Amino acid sequence: MEKRDVIIIGSGPAGLTAAIYAARANLKPLLFEGVRAGGQLMITTEVENFPGFSEGINGPELMQEMRAQAERFGVDVESEEVTKVELSAEKKILWVEDDAYEAKTVIIATGATANLLGLANEARLMGRGVSACATCDGFFFKEKVICVVGGGDSTMEEATFLTRFASKVYIIHRRDQFRASKIMIQKAKDNPKIEFIMNSVVIDILGEEKVSGVKLENTVTHKISDLEVSGIFLAIGHTPNTRLFKGQLKLDEKGYILTSENKNQLTASNIPGVFACGDVQDSRYRQAVTAAGSGCMAALDVEKYLENPEHLYMVIH
Ligand code: NAP
Repeated sequence: MEKRDVIIIGSGPAGLTAAIYAARANLKPLLFEGVRAGGQLMITTEVENFPGFSEGINGPELMQEMRAQAERFGVDVESEEVTKVELSAEKKILWVEDDAYEAKTVIIATGATANLLGLANEARLMGRGVSACATCDGFFFKEKVICVVGGGDSTMEEATFLTRFASKVYIIHRRDQFRASKIMIQKAKDNPKIEFIMNSVVIDILGEEKVSGVKLENTVTHKISDLEVSGIFLAIGHTPNTRLFKGQLKLDEKGYILTSENKNQLTASNIPGVFACGDVQDSRYRQAVTAAGSGCMAALDVEKYLENPEHLYMVIH
């Protein structure tokens, strides 16, 4: 069985930054990038807030650069998806189907995935008017009437962004109050192209070949109505990619890996030698730069842990 000091799972900004740091610390990391290599930035167009790119950079290009940087320092990048893990203080085994790998430490950077409503027609019309990524697909809705579902900061941000293309954007929210911050709500309210539909849920998506509308139910009156739109964007939060670790690692109520409980190692999970960084343990900041920052922290924590596992891991779980 192949043995490593550190194996990294995930290849978004968190995983690749962890890999760069681990490689430079001479830990010869192995990184499994998985089928959705590059993470959520691969479905983003312009990234304007990643420091160092004064003119912005597009998401896939940024990830390609990070991957090239990791490879320059000798990171072994494998395209496979890890299919099973066995994590304990004593032993960490990772499987890719029947191939097993052993690691002294593991860094989990598997990220999060956008939530969907779970409607049959949503799956059928995905990519044909249904989208979970405004920055990827907004361009296709020039001068169209569209809607965004949700009431969080992402909803406001994406609706505002979509007004660059669309002639009108409805925000459909299931309650009468938004979860989003005041400043983001105000920005959306100030935008003449945005209209709010409150206390309403999307119960069906209409259209044969492509989206032609949505069916709404008012949560107060239970009145059903149709709204004509050619696109529906979902901005209803994310789910962390932690299925692989359920029953082994301590997760919060939403399924995010719990870290930061060990003051000596802020990326440590409840299992000594297992660390997590990026969106898989962060439901709050979710930025490329914060993910990269926590990837760096995870690699530094691994380095310290390998130097002295006993001393540094204060068992407080
Ligand atoms: P979020 O804050 O969890 O909001 C999700 C929204 O979707 C909520 O309003 C929720 O409604 C609604 N929702 C969830 N499931 C739904 C369903 N099945 N049907 C209909 N509506 C549903 O997620 P987010 O907006 O993605 O933000 C996540 C975090 O990132 C937040 O901490 C946010 O502040 C941060 N963020 C910050 C910025 C920024 O500052 N620039 C931008 C984006 C995100 P309820 O309110 O009724 O639960």
